[in-house]
Amino acid sequence: MANIHPAEHSHGIDLEAALDFLNTLHPGHGRTDEQHQTDEHLERPADAAMWFLEHQLVHPDAGVRINDVELARIRRVRSALREVVDAVVEGRAPDADAVHLVNAVLEARRPTRLELDGSVLRIGHRHGDTPVDDALALIAEAVVEELATGRPERLRVCANDRCRWAFFDSSPTGRRRWCDMRSCGNQAKAARHRARLRESEHDPDHDHEALPN
Ligand SMILES: [Zn+2]
Repeated sequence: MANIHPAEHSHGIDLEAALDFLNTLHPGHGRTDEQHQTDEHLERPADAAMWFLEHQLVHPDAGVRINDVELARIRRVRSALREVVDAVVEGRAPDADAVHLVNAVLEARRPTRLELDGSVLRIGHRHGDTPVDDALALIAEAVVEELATGRPERLRVCANDRCRWAFFDSSPTGRRRWCDMRSCGNQAKAARHRARLRESEHDPDHDHEALPN
């Protein structure tokens, strides 16, 4: 193996980060107040550029400039991936347009290639037309890989309707319903508790053993 060198640069993204990309529209992570339901974390092109940089989806040295048209495309791709994940979680077929867009994005993914540099064999990859195409392809690939060869049945959307954070359930039992037990999980528990109290108040036959005299 002496003469084989890995790519000088490699970038990829894991499923968790790919799901975080979807959550850039739904930052209700642990939030239960209505106004945070549709917060947009990729508000300006620079936000998207920073997200890609932070997740090493673009070359830091090359810099990445994203224009408004590209930002709109980034958001459309995010919605399409979200639709696919939602559909899988809900056990239904995704919207055909979403599937079409994800496939278009995947076409820009970089196949591995051999590069011969004198007597040294390097493993490289082909780049797409633009850094944005490359970044979106990597994100889409991480999600689609999970569907194809991973454990898609472990994909989840937080059961708190005001949150809907997308995540992968890596718990031993696979029965995680909340993005975060301390926030959304506790919120649900408190709501169930309040509902039980209300029920017992409205039920004249109910034994009010829990209420102090
Ligand atoms: Zn949540």
